[in-house]
Amino acid sequence: LLLLGIETTCDETAAAVVRRRPDGSGTILSNVVRTQTEDHAEFGGVVPEIAARAHVEVLDGVIERALRAAGVGLSELDGIAAAAGPGLIGGVIVGLTTAKALALAARKPLVAVNHLEAHALTARLTDKVPFPFLLLLVSGGHTQLVAVTGIGEYEKLGGTIDDAIGEAFDKTAKMLGLPYPGGPAVERAALKGDASRFALPRPLHGKPTPDFSLSGLKTAVRLEALKIAPLSEEDINDLCASFQAAIVDILADRVRCALRVMRERGVKPHALVLAGGVGANQAVRRVLHKVAADGGTRLAVPPPELCTDNGAMIAWAGAERMARGLTDGLDTSPRARWPLAEVEGAPETTR
Ligand code: ATP
Ligand code: MG
Ligand code: FE
Repeated sequence: LLLLGIETTCDETAAAVVRRRPDGSGTILSNVVRTQTEDHAEFGGVVPEIAARAHVEVLDGVIERALRAAGVGLSELDGIAAAAGPGLIGGVIVGLTTAKALALAARKPLVAVNHLEAHALTARLTDKVPFPFLLLLVSGGHTQLVAVTGIGEYEKLGGTIDDAIGEAFDKTAKMLGLPYPGGPAVERAALKGDASRFALPRPLHGKPTPDFSLSGLKTAVRLEALKIAPLSEEDINDLCASFQAAIVDILADRVRCALRVMRERGVKPHALVLAGGVGANQAVRRVLHKVAADGGTRLAVPPPELCTDNGAMIAWAGAERMARGLTDGLDTSPRARWPLAEVEGAPETTR
């Protein structure tokens, strides 16, 4: 199956062409990402109205480039996939409506993909991970541990009761005067800092359900920063290193907990799958590699450029769904809110 995938749920305008073979393997033929980071930088976060307008302006060109780079014409596609949510609704409408127009004009099936499902399934493209697996989804808007037993079979084991982890990175960066998006900036500063200088909390450590809480950590960083202000570059580096060390400990503890929960249910995961933008963080990847091995499984994580938002993950999820007969009508609605648990499944999901 050859699919075009369109992603516009947040601040990346992206399109890609991906092939999925009957044996379940896949190839990315093109993957074009046009990020709006600069459009939003001066506001320190994504401004929904600006994002939607930017998607309108550049999406056509991004799709054209993706098709040209893949050397594929619309008529050669087997289907057109777009992220239909969850996300900023203005952007979702732009991407889904464009996909519908293309599907109608080229007489191709439409696949309305859940953005979170796309993050979840990317490791099946890059690492051929079979079901079941444990998914740790950590992005700007989401922090969840999910038992994935098939397409559309997503059981949430735990989630955050306040901020998402990517959001905590972004807010910490903003507090310390680092540029948006915060994750990469904090990671760079942390490399030069002393992680033992500040004793920061690890909320919910040791709790028996794999939930997260980040707001206490964020507040602790702010209080430490206020105490020593004005901040030198060294102070900022040390705060970032201490913050990142806390995040790494929290993730390790909560993932161990989720692996235990799966084990207690008699489910043996083929992998711990790390997905979402925070998965680009090297310290996070390193610790989870060890946690997975200690838990008798392995870490599967897409390369950093496939952890953050992109079109290939949408095209791939679309192909996975289409391979199981799951396509959508042109009357499909864009959705601002769309929990993974509400994603429809396939009758046959074993491979
Ligand atoms: P969602 O997928 O929840 O809708 P999103 O689309 O904004 O949110 P992604 O693009 O998957 O999320 O990820 C962006 C988030 O990942 C941001 O919060 C960003 O700070 C964080 N991030 C990116 N790179 C890194 C990194 N190297 N270290 C830590 N966090 C990072
Ligand atoms: Mg983004
Ligand atoms: Fe995302």
